[in-house]
This record gives sequence, C-alpha cells and structure tokens, in this order.
Amino acid sequence: MSRSYDIIIIGGGIGGSAAALRAVQYNLNVCWFYGDKQTSKASRSRWIYNIDNMVGFHAGIVKGELLKSFKSPDDDDFRKKINETHVHISGTAILNNTRERIESDYSDIIDIIDKAAVSAGREGEHFLISDGEFEARSEYVIFATGVMDKQPHVLKKQGEEIVDSTKWIYPFANRETFLYCIRCEGHLTREDSVAVIGSGKTAEQLSFMLYERYGIPVIILTNGEELDSDDDTKKLLSEYGISVHTQRITDAVGEKGGQLRKLVLADGEEVEVKFALVALGLHKVYNDLLIQLGAKLADEGLSEEIRHVKVNKKSETSVPNLFAVGDMAKRDDEIVMKQIYTAQEYAVRSVDSIDYRIRSKKRKIILEKIGDNSQ
Ligand SMILES: Cc1cc2nc3c(=O)[nH]c(=O)nc-3n(C[C@H](O)[C@H](O)[C@H](O)COP(=O)(O)OP(=O)(O)OC[C@H]3O[C@@H](n4cnc5c(N)ncnc54)[C@H](O)[C@@H]3O)c2cc1C
Repeated sequence: MSRSYDIIIIGGGIGGSAAALRAVQYNLNVCWFYGDKQTSKASRSRWIYNIDNMVGFHAGIVKGELLKSFKSPDDDDFRKKINETHVHISGTAILNNTRERIESDYSDIIDIIDKAAVSAGREGEHFLISDGEFEARSEYVIFATGVMDKQPHVLKKQGEEIVDSTKWIYPFANRETFLYCIRCEGHLTREDSVAVIGSGKTAEQLSFMLYERYGIPVIILTNGEELDSDDDTKKLLSEYGISVHTQRITDAVGEKGGQLRKLVLADGEEVEVKFALVALGLHKVYNDLLIQLGAKLADEGLSEEIRHVKVNKKSETSVPNLFAVGDMAKRDDEIVMKQIYTAQEYAVRSVDSIDYRIRSKKRKIILEKIGDNSQ
C-alpha cells in the first residue's frame, strides 16, 4: 500500500514530536513513522527522568495552577495533598502528552505508524519511506531518529558468575544519577561529588568543567583504560585535585529508587559519589536511511555508524528537501547541541521551511492560472 503526504516525519522522540505538532498545526497532511518498541528503547527522550533546565517546563507550574484553582477552605485537604505530592516532568510524559493532543485534535490530517521505517528511496521529486509493508511518499522528509550513548560496562559478580554488562547501571540511568548530558544535567551535581566515566579528551574536559563550575570533588574512572593526558591537562588535574582511577568498575551501589551511593573498583576501592557522568562518546547515530538517500555526514574520520548528519541552518541535509533534526544532526557552524530545546527548535524550523516551500509552490500555480485566464 502507498500514500502521498505533504510531509513525512520519522522518529517519535522530542524532535519528531515537535515537528509533528507544528506540521499538523499548519494543517499539513502528515505521515509520522513513530518507531516501535525496539527503536523506542534507544530514544534518549525516554531517558529523561525530570526536566529542570528549561524555562516553562516545570512541575511547579502544574502545582501552582492547581493551587490557584482550588482556593476555597473546603479544598484545604486537597491543597495540602498537592503541596506534599512529588511531581516531576519526564521525557515520556511529554511525548505521550504531545501524541495524545495530536491524536485528539488532528487525527483527520495525520497517519501515525507505530513501526520503524526500514527503507528509503527516491522517485523523481518524491521520497519513498517504507516500514516494509506500507509506503509513504512525499517531497519533504524530516528525520529525527536520534543517537545512542556508549554505556559503561560493569564487571559485577552475580552468584558464582562474573557478568560483564551495561545492565547494572540502568537503574541509576533511569533515575538520572548516572548522567549523560553536562549541559542539561550537570547542575544536578552542584552540591555533591561526581565520577566522570571515560578515558578520552571528553572525559578530561567534562571533569574540568564540573570542577570549574561547581567546585565539587571530581574523580575520573577510566574503567580499565589508560588516560593519555598532555602536560597542561596533567597540571590542571593536579591543581583541581581530580584523581584518575584506572581499575575496572565492579559494582554500582545505590539506594532503593536509583540514587547512586558508590562505585566499587576491581582493587576493592570504593568511590563514594552521588552522581556519575558518562563520557564515553556515541554507540550509534541512527543515520542509515539518510545515508541511503545520499545525505552527507559530519565528523569526518570517524566510523560511519557514529557520524552525525550534516545540516545547514534550516536543518536541511545536503539533499534538498530532506531534513535531519535533534541529536542526530550537526550544523557546520556550531558544536552539536543535544538538548530538548535544540531538538525542538530545529524541528519547528524545518517544518517552517517546508510549509513555506509548499505554500510558495501553490501560490505560483495560482498566479500562473490567473495569468493564463486573464489573457
Ligand atoms: C539520561 C538523559 C537525560 C537527559 N536530560 C535532559 C534534560 O533534562 N533536558 C534536556 O534538554 N535534554 C536532556 N537530555 C537530552 C535529550 O534527551 C535529547 O536531546 C532529546 O531527547 C533528543 O531527541 P531526539 O528526538 O533527537 O532523539 P530521541 O529522543 O532519541 O528519539 C529518537 C526517536 O526515533 C525513533 N526511531 C529510531 N529509528 C527509527 C526508525 N527507523 N523509524 C521510526 N522511528 C525511529 C525512536 O523510537 C525514538 O522515538 C537528556 C538525555 C539523556 C540521555
């Protein structure tokens, strides 16, 4: 089966959701490949436990509005309960809410496909995107399929067996005590101590940034690798009191609910920290279909699976009318900005560009028709 649309959007994270909302609000006819259970496991949006780095996105607003609406003395108990209730805004809550709004208000102009797009092709001016059965066609496509971070392996004893796996850190990652984004989560560490996990230049730089911003104790855990620092870096590590431990991590221990307490190393040393910042780089950029469509990649010299997709200021790739937004995209003129608002900003910018092109085309046809009739 095949159908034509004004615009195809691929990815059900923050970037895809922002693009889909803007597109339906512009009354565009949309096909949205939302992804499936498998792809959603790699959605960074779904890893966000609590958003507190953005103006406007805050649980306090919800509480405040409720308190304003229930002012009568009869509501005292309710107000007390609201004040005592812990509320946080997670990435999943935002995604679910956006999808519900779109389904409830715009179902006549959007098809949401709960599958992954698995192939991409071209027929003249049209892009063809397929989930293996259904094929969507459009002159305009926005990809927001994201990236996945490399996770630290922990060599943990389970019964008699030693299990070398990344699974040991998931309870902490889900509760945001293992961190992945210094810009959006770094401030959480500001009154505590933090272990930076990594052995490259990024780990060194992130540990400096944390110390310089918050003046907190910072430790680098290389997890079995060597840290090959230059002389200036060694001087700063020493000046800032940042120690480097090269032993493998053998356990991550925390409280019930995911608060980290300590990381245990192979030589038995226990590193007491409330947060760990993962600085291992990328496991994957979900760029396969864009490569199929001929889009150029950024990050020359790196292996293809971890290269971002090169975009211009409008988030358009090297292929005209093919856009990439969110964590997977990298502009020529700035460092990669992997946050909610950058994903949203580039998503809505790309829809604006597409809407403009669609309307300009229609306007031209109308003017040509008027011209023909008036002759
Ligand atoms: C632990 C953690 C906490 C964070 N906290 C914050 C924070 O507090 N504030 C902040 O600003 N930023 C935060 N970030 C960064 C933020 O999560 C990302 O910048 C943002 O989620 C990127 O959204 P995205 O749409 O580009 O990608 P993703 O959220 O990764 O979404 C990609 C989507 O594409 C789908 N997909 C993949 N392949 C296909 C396919 N072939 N077909 C269809 N769909 C596909 C997936 O199912 C997924 O839904 C955090 C990140 C992490 C990891």
